Amino acid sequence: MATYEQQMPRRVYPLRVLGMGLGGVVVAVVLWQRQASLLAWLGMVLPCFVWPHLAYQLSRRSADPYRAEIRNLLADSALAAALVPLMHFSLLPSVLLCTLTLVDKITTGIRGLWARSIPAMLAGGAASAALTGVHWAPESPLPIILACLPVMALHTLSVSMVSYRLIRKVSQQNLLLDELRRVDTLTGLYGRGHWQEQAEAALRRHHTGLDAACMLMMDIDNFKQINDQHGHTVGDEVIRAVAHVVRGNVRATDCAGRYGGDEFAILLAGMETAEAVAVAERIRAQTEAIRLRDMPALRMTASIGVAAAHTRHGALRAWMDAADAALYVAKNAGRNRVTDSSTDAGSAAAPQPATSDS
Ligand code: GH3
Ligand code: MG
Repeated sequence: MATYEQQMPRRVYPLRVLGMGLGGVVVAVVLWQRQASLLAWLGMVLPCFVWPHLAYQLSRRSADPYRAEIRNLLADSALAAALVPLMHFSLLPSVLLCTLTLVDKITTGIRGLWARSIPAMLAGGAASAALTGVHWAPESPLPIILACLPVMALHTLSVSMVSYRLIRKVSQQNLLLDELRRVDTLTGLYGRGHWQEQAEAALRRHHTGLDAACMLMMDIDNFKQINDQHGHTVGDEVIRAVAHVVRGNVRATDCAGRYGGDEFAILLAGMETAEAVAVAERIRAQTEAIRLRDMPALRMTASIGVAAAHTRHGALRAWMDAADAALYVAKNAGRNRVTDSSTDAGSAAAPQPATSDS
């Protein structure tokens, strides 16, 4: 597929034909008004009606079409400025053509192109003045004003369209970036950053309105063994399967995240401890029941610490420490169990290290 840079000559071609053509109409009206010589007419026809096609051929045949197109764009500026002495400095069309050619350089988005086009314009204007002489007739009668109107309207509209498309594209890409930042690629659960933001918001709501909220800190038991015995690919498969169980047990209003390697953090909004422990117990039991399709003999379990938001948790860290401490108790008590930070008592489940007979 052609790159953005390779496509540039093809994209610029119709715009140059249109822009130079409409500019040519303006210059033609000025020349007609002052009954210019044949040479002056030739000086208008070549840049306005011949040059766009020549420029396209030059960039198409070039080994480096992008660089050739940059040269063409600078030549556009020089030629637009060269029309100014040809129009005897008729004020409105002169300012219009010079401004629009500069705007065109800015809207390419190519760094510094507009600045580089200024010396090109000065050179073009000076060369044209040297060839045609300097005649000062700045008036712009009505026919010239009328000829300027289509250029002004069409150019403004086309630049606005380009900006509109660009803004739409940037906002769509920002949404995508935001989604990538929020979601963990392995599991599709939220990533640590987004999860923390949600947990902080839940803690703030608890402090201000005493809305209940519980946090589950969950860690797969003996996960290193699974990795060591079966490899990281199987380890990843286990993480995904456990994430699937987690997702199946939370509501749309909850926030389930992957906090680290084999660690998950789940925020249960508006939930009291007893209900949260029940959710944790369901997740624990379903994790124990996971059977991977390709390795049905592989067993996995997880330990979960539950902590309810409390006014003594001044910051998220304190709340997380409470959930971590409960998880630590669960691990120490033999794993594969749920522990609530308020009681430090694990819910019943036989300790069962991750093993496999495969
Ligand atoms: P414990 O029961 O005490 O939690 O023991 P454990 O073996 O599970 O110990 P720990 O939780 O500390 O082990 C986490 C391991 O997870 C260590 C690291 O090699 C592994 N790990 C971290 N991220 C990934 C990952 O994305 N994929 C896989 N396959 N392994 C990971
Ligand atoms: Mg672990």
